[in-house]
Amino acid sequence: MSSTSHTASPLPASAAVVNGAASRPRVGELVADLRKISKIYYKPDGSVLVEALKGCDLQIRQGEYLAIMGASGSGKSTLMNILGCLDRPTSGEYLLDGKDVAQMEDDELSRVRGEKIGFVFQAFNLISELTIVENVEVPLFYQGILKGQREKRAIEKLNIVGLGDRLTHRPKELSGGQQQRVAVARALVTEPSIIMADEPTGNLDSKTGVAILELISDLHKIGMTIIMVTHDERVAVRCERIVRLRDGEVESDVRK
Ligand code: ADP
Ligand code: MG
Repeated sequence: MSSTSHTASPLPASAAVVNGAASRPRVGELVADLRKISKIYYKPDGSVLVEALKGCDLQIRQGEYLAIMGASGSGKSTLMNILGCLDRPTSGEYLLDGKDVAQMEDDELSRVRGEKIGFVFQAFNLISELTIVENVEVPLFYQGILKGQREKRAIEKLNIVGLGDRLTHRPKELSGGQQQRVAVARALVTEPSIIMADEPTGNLDSKTGVAILELISDLHKIGMTIIMVTHDERVAVRCERIVRLRDGEVESDVRK
C-alpha cells in the first residue's frame, strides 16, 4: 500500500497485513468482471423454472465498497453466490483477478473461493466446539497450512478486530457483536481479494450493528474490496456504490 489516501486508517499499523497478499490487484484494478451473466434454475424435467439473472454486467475494482440491493427475489443471493464462487452462471463470463471462473470444475472453483473470497454471514456461522483462534484458523486448515503458521496468522487478524485478548474463548462466551468480529477475522485470514458480507448486521442490535459496519468501513479504508448484500438503506448509505437489482437485471448502478 503506497497510496497516501489510506494513511488516515484508524486501524493499528499491523492492519497493513490485511492488504499484504502479493497476488492481489492494486487498488483501482479490476478484481471482478462479470459479462452477460445469466442464471437459470431448471425444473427436474429440464424445463426453465426461473431465470434468476438475465444478462448482468458488473465490474468491480479493488478497493471498492459496494452494496447489492433489491427486493426479495430480485436475484441478490444468486449474484452473490456467483460472485463468491459458490455457484456458476448458466452463461456469461466471470473473470476474478483475471481468471475465468465461470467454467471451472467444482474443486478448482472451491480452491479459488478459498484463496480469493472471505465471507461474513448474517448468522456468524462459527463452530461452537472450537476456540475463537481455532475458528479463525479454519480456512487456513483447508489450505493445508500448518498449525504454527495458522495460529500466528489467526492471532494477527484477531488483534485487528480487537479480540486479541479473547483467543481461547468459545463463541458462546462472546456477545453477538464479538462473534461477528471473529467472523470478520476469519474472512480476513486468507488475505482474500474480496470480502463478501450478506446482511452482516441482520442478527445484531442497532448499536452493535453500527460497530460492525465501522469495522467493515475501516477495512475498506485500508484498501479491501467489500461487497455487501443488504436490504437496509442505513447499511447501504455507508457504501460508495449501490447496485440495485430488479427481476434479475441491474436496474441501477450508482457511485457516490
Ligand atoms: P434475493 O436474494 O434477491 O431474494 P434470489 O437470488 O434468492 O433473490 O432469487 C432470485 C429468483 O431465483 C427467485 O425467483 C427465487 O425464487 C429463484 N431461486 C433462487 N434460488 C433458487 C434455487 N436454488 N432453485 C430454484 N429457484 C431459485
Ligand atoms: Mg437472498
